[in-house]
Amino acid sequence: MTEEVDVVVVGSCMTDLVSQAPRLPKAGETIHGHRFFIGFGGKGANQCIQAARLGAKTAMVCKVGKDFFGDNYIQNFKDSGVSTAFVEQTAEAATGAASIIVNDAGENAIVIVAGANMLLGKEELQRAQAALEKAKVVVCQLEVSPDTSLKALQMAQQNHVKTIFNPAPAISDLHAGFYKASDIFCCNESEAELLTGCPVASVEDAGRVGLELLKRGCASVIITLGPQGCVVLQSKDPAPKHVPTTKVTSVDTTGAGDSFIGALAFYIAHYPTMPLEEMARRANLIAAVSVQTTGTQTSYPFKKDLPTELF
Ligand code: ATP
Repeated sequence: MTEEVDVVVVGSCMTDLVSQAPRLPKAGETIHGHRFFIGFGGKGANQCIQAARLGAKTAMVCKVGKDFFGDNYIQNFKDSGVSTAFVEQTAEAATGAASIIVNDAGENAIVIVAGANMLLGKEELQRAQAALEKAKVVVCQLEVSPDTSLKALQMAQQNHVKTIFNPAPAISDLHAGFYKASDIFCCNESEAELLTGCPVASVEDAGRVGLELLKRGCASVIITLGPQGCVVLQSKDPAPKHVPTTKVTSVDTTGAGDSFIGALAFYIAHYPTMPLEEMARRANLIAAVSVQTTGTQTSYPFKKDLPTELF
C-alpha cells in the first residue's frame, strides 16, 4: 500500500494552544493575555518530524480527531514530507491537546488531554504491519497506551527492525517487556531517576543508572543530560561512555529530547554501521541547534541548514 519507509514512529500528536499572559489566572478568574499561538507537538510527532527534516523517509502511526486540529495536523505531516498513510481520524475523541498558559516570569500551567491518542490500538498496528516489519527503525514513547507501544516494538523486533524506545512521560511501573524490546532505550535524567529510584545529578550517576537499565535487558541505553550531552551504554561493552556536546546559548529547550531521538532514528536508518557513540555525538549537535530558537517543531533544523559533516 505504501512505499517503503526508513523510520516509522508509533506515537502521539498534540496541538499546543499557548496563551501568554502577565500572570496565571486564579480559579474562576478571566484575565487578558497578550499573545496566543498554536503549535504542533506530541513526542511521537516531534520525533518523526525531526527525522524527516534530516532526510529520512518517515511514516507516522497515530490517531487524531475528526476535527479542525486533526485536519491541521495531517497537513503539518504532509508539509514535512511525513507519510500519513497510517494517520487515522476518529469521531470518538478530539485530537490530543495541551492548553498552556505562560506568565511573564516564564512559569506555566498546562492541561493535557490525550484524546484520540489513547484510542490508537492493536487494529491500527495491524493496518501498519507491513511498514512496521519492513522499516529500518521503529520509534515509540509513552504518550499513547503502553500496550500499543510495547506491541509495536515487539512487532518490529521480531522482524529484525531496530527499535528505539523513549519511556516518556515516565511511569514507575514500566512493564519489563519494554527493556527487552528496546535496541536503544533512550530517556532523560528524570525519567531514568523515576525508573530506577536512583538520583541522577552527574554524568557518573547517569552511568550507574544506565548500567541498571542495561541489566534489565535492553541492547543499549542512552541517557540525555541537557547541556552535558548524553551517556551511552551498550551490552556488548557496558562501560558508560560520556558523549559531551558543544556549549550553545539556549533560548528554549522544549522538545530538545525529541529532536535528539528523531536525529538518532535518522542515523540508525541511514548509517546502520556507524558506532552508536558517533550517532549520539551527531544527535547532540542537532538537538543543540533546536535549543537555540523558540518553539518545538519550529526549532528543529533541516538537513540543508546543517554542516555537511553531519551527513
Ligand atoms: P525536553 O523535555 O526539553 O524535550 P529532555 O529533558 O527530554 O528535553 P534533555 O536531556 O534536556 O532532554 O536534552 C536532550 C538533548 O538536547 C541533550 O542530550 C543535548 O544533546 C541537547 N541539549 C539540551 N539542552 C541543551 C543545551 N542547553 N545546550 C546544548 N544542548 C542541549
